[in-house]
Amino acid sequence: MPRQWYNILADMPGAPMDPPLNPATKKPMGPDELAALFPMALIEQEVSTQRWIDIPEEILDVLAIWRPSPLYRAYNLEKALGTPARIYFKWEGGSPPGSHKPNTAVPQAYYNAKEGITKLTTETGAGQWGSSLAFAGQFYGLEVRVFMVKVSYEAKPFRRLLMETWGASCIPSPSDKTDVGRSILAEDPECPGSLGIAISEAVEEALKREDTHYALGSVLNHVILHQSIIGLEAKKQLEKVGDYPDVVIGCVGGGSNFGGIAVPFAYDKINGKDLRILAAEPAACPSITRGVFAYDYGDTGKMTPMLRMHTLGHDFIPPSIHAGGLRYHGMSPIVSKLVEEGIAEAKSFHQRGIFDAAVLFARTEGFVVAPETAHAIKACVDEAIQAKEEGKEKVILVNASGHGHFDMNAYHQYFENKLEDYEYPEENIRKALEALPKI
Ligand SMILES: *Cc1c(COP(=O)(O)O)cnc(C)c1O
Repeated sequence: MPRQWYNILADMPGAPMDPPLNPATKKPMGPDELAALFPMALIEQEVSTQRWIDIPEEILDVLAIWRPSPLYRAYNLEKALGTPARIYFKWEGGSPPGSHKPNTAVPQAYYNAKEGITKLTTETGAGQWGSSLAFAGQFYGLEVRVFMVKVSYEAKPFRRLLMETWGASCIPSPSDKTDVGRSILAEDPECPGSLGIAISEAVEEALKREDTHYALGSVLNHVILHQSIIGLEAKKQLEKVGDYPDVVIGCVGGGSNFGGIAVPFAYDKINGKDLRILAAEPAACPSITRGVFAYDYGDTGKMTPMLRMHTLGHDFIPPSIHAGGLRYHGMSPIVSKLVEEGIAEAKSFHQRGIFDAAVLFARTEGFVVAPETAHAIKACVDEAIQAKEEGKEKVILVNASGHGHFDMNAYHQYFENKLEDYEYPEENIRKALEALPKI
């Protein structure tokens, strides 16, 4: 198991990364301003350009519950596809909450507790992040309060119960607990909620209390740093069997599992290795392939720092017919920059195709993946089929970010033929982008 995280900021080509801006003044934010939300250790990691950062023993002890995560060769999938490609998948679904998210929830809880914080607030969409933070908080004695997007809260009672089992409280968002929530409910009492709204509520509560901080499960640089453990392990595991990928694939919502598997290989690419690094996103929420690279707020209420990233606009509300997750309007600035610098690329996929691939994967490799993960599996299947058509050997490494045991409703919709493919309308994208802050 790696004892250090890898920080891509030490090696990122091109101009330096653009700093986060204060949402009110639009000026670069210093550490003191960020300290209302995050502990100093994470703020330092956020801007650090040190290549290797030690993982504290107290964090390794908890990560060791399920790490190192296994790397599998997908022999049965290869056979079913008749491809000459060698497919490897890194299985992050074996963590207690069932995804890669505890890789960062654990260090975030640890650093907050170490600085005397007693309570963390956060948002969650499908419930993966909320349950990961609930899981992590209990190891360090933290109270965790999760604002869960209302449609998901109603559709996924088991995720909520999982959070409660780990001692957290879970509130449907928009709620009457915050100013942002109350003002949104006054306008639209039936509002289904969105990640952007839930973030605003969690941030508002953290800003109001001295003993409370906010935790974000994706997007930020320190999150990609913590997730780099995925790629570092995969590289070691592949070395042991004498292989190296021609293409590295991950799905992208906010960019954390993709960034995690990608950055150690991006380092190689920056240093001359020839490989492709591919992000798979939904056609219904195409932040990289159809958004713009610009400064935007991370939330609907314009309370988070502004980040320069690929965005569909902070007012973006994903279509409710979309079952595949990955609904965030923005993107990790690191992942955005890797795309802008030509190190990573992105493709978008429709939801019926991703479930075709996920079901094929379940029937060959056994694991039932999360709908999010299914995007990466679909991209992998397409790459393997292309290798077959070209009669070329190819090594594919795909990050399988989590299991789908709480998402069987989405599989049900697929089996009942109720899923529709949905291309986010150009008109909506144009409108959302008009609302981007002018910098
Ligand atoms: C949250 C989640 C994602 C998307 O988030 P990223 O930050 O883009 O990784 C993908 N897969 C699973 C299983 C998730 O829980």
